[in-house]
Amino acid sequence: MNPQNIQTLAIASPAATCALSVIVPVYNEEDVLPIFHARLTSALAGLAGGWEVVYVNDGSKDSSLGILKAMQLAAPAVVSLASLSRNFGKEAAMSAGLQLARGSAVILIDADLQDPPELIPQMVQAWHEGADMVNMRRRSRQGETWFKKASAHGFYRAINWLSEVPIPEDVGDFRLLSRRAVQALNQLPESSRFMKGLFAWIGYRQMTIEYDRHARAAGETKWPYFKLLNFAIEGITSFSVVPLRLASYAGFITALGSFLYALVFLVKTMIFGDSVKGFPTLIVTILLMGGLQLMATGIIGEYLGKLFMESKRRPLYLLDEYQPAALAATVPTNQTATSA
Ligand code: UDP
Ligand code: MG
Repeated sequence: MNPQNIQTLAIASPAATCALSVIVPVYNEEDVLPIFHARLTSALAGLAGGWEVVYVNDGSKDSSLGILKAMQLAAPAVVSLASLSRNFGKEAAMSAGLQLARGSAVILIDADLQDPPELIPQMVQAWHEGADMVNMRRRSRQGETWFKKASAHGFYRAINWLSEVPIPEDVGDFRLLSRRAVQALNQLPESSRFMKGLFAWIGYRQMTIEYDRHARAAGETKWPYFKLLNFAIEGITSFSVVPLRLASYAGFITALGSFLYALVFLVKTMIFGDSVKGFPTLIVTILLMGGLQLMATGIIGEYLGKLFMESKRRPLYLLDEYQPAALAATVPTNQTATSA
C-alpha cells in the first residue's frame, strides 16, 4: 500500500489512527499561536500512542493561517491543518475539527491559553479510567468582568430551568470526548450547533475535573456582549420549547384577567350607571395586550426562523483546504515494522 492510499483511507474512515486528537479553533490569534503551540506540544510530549493537533483556521483575517502553515511545515507528523472557506464561528470550527479528528479520544481547547494545555495528561488519565466525556469545570475565572460572570450565571440558571437535559454550569467547550461520543456528535444533523447543549444531550459516562481559568494570554475576546446575548437566545431556543408554552400561558392568563375585569365592569355599570371614566385603565390594558402579543409573535418568529434555517440543510462549514498530519512518525517503531 503506498502512502497516498493510507492517507485517503484515513480521511474516508476517521477510525482512530492515533490515541489523541487535540482540536484548536483559531480565529485571529496571531499573537498567541506560537506560545500556545509550544505549551501544547510540550504538554503532549510524554503521551503514549501517538497524537495529532488539528488546527481549524476559522477564516482568520490576520496572519494566523501563515503561522499555522509554518507550524505544520515544522512538524508535519503531528500537525493537521484545516482551513474553512470563511469565518463560520467557533461552533462550526469545532464541528469541522470533530469530523476530521482521527484520535481514539478528542480534546477541544481554545487557542488563547485560557484553557491550560498542561491539564491534558490528567484528562487522558480520566479517559483511560473509562470516561466518555471529561468536562472541565472552571473553579475561577480570571480576567473577566463581574458583569460577564453574572450574566453567564444567569444564563445557566435560565437554560437549566427551561431545557430537558441539564447543562452543567461553568463547563465550557474545553473537554475530552471518546471516539463513540465524537461519533454520536457527528451524527447529530442540526445546523444550529449549540455545542454545550449537544455535549450534554449525548450522555454516556461523564467525569468532571475542576481547574482555574486564566485570563487570555494575548489578543482579545471575539465575544462582544451583543453576540453573547444572541448566543444565549440561540441556546435556549435550540434546547427548549418552553418559551412557546410561556407565550400561551401569558396569553391565557391575560385573557382570563380581561374576562374577569369585564365582569366587574358589567356589574359596576349596572349598579352605578355608565360614565366615561377609566381612560388610564383603558390605555394600560391596550398597551399591555399589545406588548404581550408582540412578545408572543417574537417568540414564535424565533422558532420559525430556526425551522427555516434548518430546512435549508446547508453544510455546517466549507473546507478550503485540509492537510492531515502524516502521523507515521508517531506510531511506535515496532508497529511501523510490521505494517510495511
Ligand atoms: N474562535 C473561532 N471562531 C470565531 C470566534 C472564536 O474559531 O468566530 C476561536 C478563538 O480563536 C479561540 C476560541 O474560539 O480559540 C475562543 O474564542 P474567545 O477566546 O474569543 O472566546 P471567549 O474565551 O472569550 O469565550
Ligand atoms: Mg477566550
